[in-house]
Amino acid sequence: LAATTSAATSPTEYPTSHEQISQPLDTHNFIDNKFVPSNATQWIDLYDPATNNLVTRVPQSTDEEMKQATASAQKAFPAWKAQSVLARQQIMFKYTALIRENWDRLAASITLEQGKTFADAKGDVLRGLQVAEAACGITTDILGSVLEVAKDMETRSYREPLGVVAAICPFNFPAMIPLWTIPIATVTGNTCIIKPSERDPGACMILAELAEKAGFPAGVVNIIHGSAKAVDFILDAPEIKAISFVGSNKAGEYIYKRASENGKRCQANLGAKNHAAVLPDCNKNHALNAIAGAAFGAAGQRCMALSTLVFVGETKDWAPEIAERAKSLKMNGGFEEGADLGPVISPQAKERIESLIASAEKEGATIVMDGRGQKPDKYPNGNWIGPTIIANVTKSMTCYKEEIFGPVLVCLNVPTLDEAIELINENEYGNGTAIFTSSGATATRFQKEIEAGQVGINVPIPVPLPMFSFTGNKKSVAGGGANTFYGKPGIQFYTQQKTVTSFWRAEDAVSTRAKVDMPTQS
Ligand code: NAD
Repeated sequence: LAATTSAATSPTEYPTSHEQISQPLDTHNFIDNKFVPSNATQWIDLYDPATNNLVTRVPQSTDEEMKQATASAQKAFPAWKAQSVLARQQIMFKYTALIRENWDRLAASITLEQGKTFADAKGDVLRGLQVAEAACGITTDILGSVLEVAKDMETRSYREPLGVVAAICPFNFPAMIPLWTIPIATVTGNTCIIKPSERDPGACMILAELAEKAGFPAGVVNIIHGSAKAVDFILDAPEIKAISFVGSNKAGEYIYKRASENGKRCQANLGAKNHAAVLPDCNKNHALNAIAGAAFGAAGQRCMALSTLVFVGETKDWAPEIAERAKSLKMNGGFEEGADLGPVISPQAKERIESLIASAEKEGATIVMDGRGQKPDKYPNGNWIGPTIIANVTKSMTCYKEEIFGPVLVCLNVPTLDEAIELINENEYGNGTAIFTSSGATATRFQKEIEAGQVGINVPIPVPLPMFSFTGNKKSVAGGGANTFYGKPGIQFYTQQKTVTSFWRAEDAVSTRAKVDMPTQS
């Protein structure tokens, strides 16, 4: 039960199966370094996607609780800001060690609540941990600049924290995405409020517990729960200076607008439709494996999932071979040995994905592989959809226009690289794209002409590591993508610059005449 409740604290106590929990415990708020039971009157039941058994109830945190969390973060800020960066770095070192120690426990929570396989959930934790590890380099990364701008006059510029900042997280990476905020926001001296996805907050609760253990003072990390109402509280609370959002376009565009209207900084990563162009000269074996893995891994519920193939020229005949690779992927409960993909998050998500597959059929596409109706014997009640491949898709079809967010690969055909580039650039999303080719010249041209913000060359899911930044563009970000997550831009997002010009000259002490001209500093 440790994964969902905070009741247990040992890194070795965590669920290892999808068995029904005999007495599901409620998820708490985390305020002032304590797990606080919620007085909510409204609760969200959270079900294991593999079984639809109840795992926990997540509160719609009350206004009073959200105000307490904000007050706690506000109160903690001055002392936390005043800590030396070295002191904050030491806590971050401990935090990374604790995350590593609790790696399996975090992953187990993710498998239970989100459904992805245990191995994949470990990757979710690792990609977040890497952000925390990079945050340990803050002493170098936050160095300011200084210049003697005139005789005896010096200007120095450095970065200061903003105050209380908040993150609103999606369901698909329950550890990684809270960790896009917690380490960077706190190591730069901010205090934070995290609202995990109401569909799988367990990993975030463990991250909060570990934050307290690592030595973060009370109030530096707080967690509240809920859906739209909690989000509106975050958007409107004047104490909250910056908002990090990751999720759908529908929620994100609203959040970015309202946050901006309220004068807050906002970084917002949104939906995607990631295309890969497949060239006849590619290493075919590598491409087939990479495509099947990136389309169906995590049941297609990654913002960087490779959901759209553009077959160039004769590669249009390769769909059945991708289907062969997909057939060998095992759909099963995420704790089961050898499981390659788990269920989708909810019965509603399953229904929506199935209706998109049906729309493709109706609109004249070819269903090469149909995952509808498949389920593993042991888990008849889960939200299952097997790998699905839809060929001969055209730009006007619904399955092309919408983000499916399930294990469904849609395939379009074009005769030339020029047309592949044109098609991909016409798409309104710009999160990721990939090309499979053996030609350096072709790859270089693609890299230069393609508009998507993250490009893989023979790499299907090119999510940048945290020494870089997450650089989606177009409709995959709000606000034109000015504020990207993690890396140097992440540090910039959570800090503001201060520029100080000072003048120290002994002889001025005896001058009796004021200078009235505009200083030119020459
Ligand atoms: P979602 O938008 O439904 O939920 C994300 C967060 O917003 C949750 O915390 C939720 O409580 C809140 N929310 C939902 N609806 C809201 C509303 N109407 N008003 C205010 N708040 C609301 O997204 P999701 O289903 O959890 O996640 C999947 C989506 O996230 C996909 O579109 C995926 O592409 C995207 N995503 C993008 C990235 C990226 O970096 N670009 C990464 C992960 C996921």
